[in-house]
Amino acid sequence: MKDSFYRDTWAEIDLDAISHNVSSLREFLGNDVNIMAVVKANAYGHGDVQVAKTALEAGASYLAVAFLDEALALRKKGMEAPILVLGAVRPEYINIAARERITLTVFQTEWLEQAALLYQETIPISFHLKMDTGMGRIGVKDEAETKRIVEMIDQHPYFSLEGVYTHFATADEVNTDYFSFQYQNFLRMLDWLPYKPCFIHCGNSATSLRFPEKVFNMVRFGISMYGLAPSPEIKPYLPYKLKEAFSLHSRIVHVKQLMPGEKVSYGATYTAETEEWVGTVPIGYADGWLRRLQHFHVLVNGTRVPIIGRICMDQLMVRLPEKVPVGTQVTLIGRQGDAYISIDEVAQYLGTINYEIPCTISYRVPRIFL
Ligand code: PLP
Repeated sequence: MKDSFYRDTWAEIDLDAISHNVSSLREFLGNDVNIMAVVKANAYGHGDVQVAKTALEAGASYLAVAFLDEALALRKKGMEAPILVLGAVRPEYINIAARERITLTVFQTEWLEQAALLYQETIPISFHLKMDTGMGRIGVKDEAETKRIVEMIDQHPYFSLEGVYTHFATADEVNTDYFSFQYQNFLRMLDWLPYKPCFIHCGNSATSLRFPEKVFNMVRFGISMYGLAPSPEIKPYLPYKLKEAFSLHSRIVHVKQLMPGEKVSYGATYTAETEEWVGTVPIGYADGWLRRLQHFHVLVNGTRVPIIGRICMDQLMVRLPEKVPVGTQVTLIGRQGDAYISIDEVAQYLGTINYEIPCTISYRVPRIFL
């Protein structure tokens, strides 16, 4: 496993944690609800095909990605399960999608007209109709347009409407007013349809975990499949314990002693006050460990040590309590003994959401699957 890369920085992906998070949801929602595993953005930075396989084995039956390219990449890597593209795909690419059995999201009459004109295959292709109930992103809002889209799909010899869905803007907030507004809109919009397609879905992780009675017969499970709470606000109310799958590690490559007054890194912003031990760690902002994480900490030998000086593109420096051997493991996200740095803590330090953290850890960091 180790000999497929040659650098001293890696992410560990605990596939058992993914499996636990999916099978717990399966148990929580019961067998009548289909689980669509959201593996866009390289499975939120965790590794698309490994997560997809694990999720399918643990009880998911559908995959979702953002772009056609991500769906095609999964097919190339041998994934046979149905895949829905959640985002927009140009109408001219409908033939590629059909050949690869990729389900597309439809949300505009003009798109469907063009796609129908450009369709050259004699094989079926499925669509999920996206309704905009208040997210203001992609989705149909209008009754006449909804009816027209369904009619056009039904009249086409190879098109079929397999699903209808919407997305909530505030399912992860304690206040449920806007969520209820969107949910009521969705119920009203479903009545516009002449028939109910096979799959009806509105639930992301937050909805699935908080409002299991409102998810119809499919959920799109993203962030909590990776063991993360959809927001700090609702973390205390989750129905079962999630297991975090992502951790990030490196090794100290140089240890030296600084004399009082000596400086560290670009801009010489850090000055040693006393004789100090400093370790160099081969991870930087090009790996997604952003410059704003200066002054944050990492774990060395089970204790928190501060990042000192500016974070470089490929390296950063930490102040060590004592001399440690070159090769000592550094944990940037995850556990060392009783000490723990969670993705939520990194997100909070950066003033962002936990989703952004594993997605930002770049392709340069090899993923090891446990
Ligand atoms: N459905 C859609 C349309 C999305 O865009 C996303 C994620 O952004 C999800 C589902 C999954 O949401 P979550 O990661 O909050 O479970």
